[in-house]
Amino acid sequence: MSEATAEQVLEALKSVIDPDRGENIVSLGMIQGLNVDAGKVSFSIEVDPARGPELEDMRLEADAAARSVPGVVVTAVILTAEREAGPGPSPMTEAASFNKLQLPNIKSVIAIASGKGGVGKSTTAVNLALAMASGGKKVGILDADVYGPSIPRMLGVTEKPQASESGNIQPLIGHGIECMSMGFLVEEETPLIWRGPMATGALEQLFADVNWGELDVLVVDMPPGTGDIHLTLSQRVPISGVIIVSTPQEIALADARKGLNMFRKVNAPIFGIIENMSYFLCPDNDKRYYIFGQDGAKREAEAQGVDFLGEIPLDTEIRETSDSGLPIVATQPDGEHAKRYKAIADKVWEKLAAGA
Ligand code: ADP
Repeated sequence: MSEATAEQVLEALKSVIDPDRGENIVSLGMIQGLNVDAGKVSFSIEVDPARGPELEDMRLEADAAARSVPGVVVTAVILTAEREAGPGPSPMTEAASFNKLQLPNIKSVIAIASGKGGVGKSTTAVNLALAMASGGKKVGILDADVYGPSIPRMLGVTEKPQASESGNIQPLIGHGIECMSMGFLVEEETPLIWRGPMATGALEQLFADVNWGELDVLVVDMPPGTGDIHLTLSQRVPISGVIIVSTPQEIALADARKGLNMFRKVNAPIFGIIENMSYFLCPDNDKRYYIFGQDGAKREAEAQGVDFLGEIPLDTEIRETSDSGLPIVATQPDGEHAKRYKAIADKVWEKLAAGA
């Protein structure tokens, strides 16, 4: 069978009519970021934010229309809220004119970022979120790492989220904290290449169209690096603070620095740096082995004039518990590791209180 083309998908989408405007969604220019690659189709439909909840049927219709094209195997179709400022010269210079999303239930939002992948950003985000919840505060975690969503697995959440009567999505609960993930929008085994507009549209939906409870803090696990998602977050979401996670070696710190500078440019408050995998504590002789060098992130924090929030050792138990959905702060709340995460959580609460 020959491969589906973008033209065929657009042709099929012409059968979908915007119920309010009576014209098809292609002619109305509502299709954005269409990507057709080896049977995988992704696009977003730009709609007025106020109409979002009513347009789920139209989204489903568009999804079915795309699937009807011979050769199409997977589809990812999302609704994107129109940006009220309209297209501007460049995302950076547009920043000031973006309307921030209204998040009435959420008191503060913290972004957990890293320069590189694999430094333990998600593990740190989950354990920090649990540590922040341990004093009885209400905490949610939003997995915005579209390229490697892992938070639901780390929280032991296996079910899929359900839509509520209003059409909004109900967050899931893992170890007592609310959780929502980009990963729910794509199958775990289906690596989808998300283009900028797709990913940023999905991120906005995860903030605005999820029935978050009354949260003291929403922890956002960002994708590694700097990109569209980071820009969207800083433009559209009121961020109380950014935390950078890095391992101690220069190669990771150099990328962490880039991330830090990006958030600085968009005036997001930097809460500080957490050093992960600081050292290996040998269980045989209790000696510390500084596998990636010593104090790299601490020195970097000093050089950048930001706080050093704490260090987390490299430990098999942290990996095993995190990868099996039993994060160490939840399952060994009185252990040494949990204490470290909680000490960092206390510092973060202090910073939130100071900024409030
Ligand atoms: P990232 O989000 O930066 O890509 P992850 O949190 O997914 O990184 O971690 C990558 C791997 O490293 C996972 O298998 C995780 O369990 C492991 N890991 C993270 N932090 C630690 C740590 N402090 N000690 C041991 N293993 C860790």
